[in-house]
Amino acid sequence: MKDTHDRHARSQAAYAAACRLLPGGVNSPVRAFGGVDIGPVFIASARGARVFDVDGREYIDYVGSWGPMILGHAHPDVIAAIHKAVDRGTSFGAPTLAETALAERIVDAMASIEKVRLVSSGTEAVMSAVRLARAFTGRDTIVKMAGCYHGHSDSFLVAAGSGVAEHGTASSPGVPQALAKLTVVVPYNDAAAVAAAFENHPDRIAAVLVEPVAANMGVVSPAEGYLAALRRLCDENGALLIFDEVITGFRVAFGGAQELYGVHADLTCLGKIIGGGLPLAAFGGRAGIMDRLAPAGKVYQAGTLSGNPIATAAAVATLDLLARPRCYERLESLSAALETGLADAAARAGVPLTINRVGSILSGFFCDRPVRNFADVQTTDIACFKRFFAGMLERGVYLAPSAYEAMFVSLAHTDSDIERTIQAARESFQTAIHP
Ligand SMILES: *Cc1c(COP(=O)(O)O)cnc(C)c1O
Repeated sequence: MKDTHDRHARSQAAYAAACRLLPGGVNSPVRAFGGVDIGPVFIASARGARVFDVDGREYIDYVGSWGPMILGHAHPDVIAAIHKAVDRGTSFGAPTLAETALAERIVDAMASIEKVRLVSSGTEAVMSAVRLARAFTGRDTIVKMAGCYHGHSDSFLVAAGSGVAEHGTASSPGVPQALAKLTVVVPYNDAAAVAAAFENHPDRIAAVLVEPVAANMGVVSPAEGYLAALRRLCDENGALLIFDEVITGFRVAFGGAQELYGVHADLTCLGKIIGGGLPLAAFGGRAGIMDRLAPAGKVYQAGTLSGNPIATAAAVATLDLLARPRCYERLESLSAALETGLADAAARAGVPLTINRVGSILSGFFCDRPVRNFADVQTTDIACFKRFFAGMLERGVYLAPSAYEAMFVSLAHTDSDIERTIQAARESFQTAIHP
């Protein structure tokens, strides 16, 4: 263990200092590495597919800032766009040309979006889209899926209640039970449970909110026909279908999961990739719904830094790079090679591993069964994941420090990065099963 300490000495000192001033030493919980029983690595800089820590160590990065860095870190065109924007001033609180330019790109890319509102975080996008859905339908109840994450606003920090399709219960102190009761939590990939929710709460459900590919419990892809069934249930019951594409938008296809699966949402939430690594997110849908937002309509929503000029410049540059030919083919072939290599390495080491992958997001679950919902995820071998994570980190591969998170492949990863990652995995699988 002493060896490990020496190699991360500066990170450990930085963490101790941070813990004196920041609750838990971080500004977002997962960064504390609580899921892997070792201290966090402090990052000094990043370029392409690499992050560099404060101890001077280099890693192949599969976190990608939790999704945004699909082009790799510090892409020169994005950095240039940011520099150019910064030189003109950092914030005006007034409309700018770049906001319309970004809206145009989003509307062109996403078939179900005619109008869009820019905000600063995914949390804000989902919170605002749900307010709009409630106003539009005149109903209060929301259906969400266990294991899907929609940011940290009160209505979504809610766990399943006692029975399927019953009222939810607060999953964080500070969330009023009265509010949690308006959220009904059902299992992912279970359209019958959503149908039951509509039966149990007639004329009460404003919206069904779902990650079309779940990516916050590891990656869990939608079962055949699941998204279409949600679409049909919403139509039959006068509710809106909200796709939270904060991860999947511009990730699993340029037009998001709705392009990939051919099912359209009424409202779509975007974030992560569309900010190009800066704080920017959005929600959008058809004009008849979006025009209910102030100042066109009466539903209040606002933000001092919404459509910030620097974030907007990074966003436009990022989407223009992603619109170039063959980006998604390249992401697919890199990610498929990674999937095949990891599966092969695990099989050779005798490690049961179920890999779920949709495009450039993937997860390896330490289990020997299919993983289709949060209950399945919770039965995987977390101790084995922790040993695997530590082995990969020591071999220069930076994975998400939690068994419940995805790996993100970027356009900056090279074939040789993938090969090196697979080699590190061959060795790490050995130590994961023979600690
Ligand atoms: C990250 C995420 C959010 C929250 O976005 P923030 O920018 O962190 O507030 C919401 N929904 C999904 C699906 C996410 O992955």
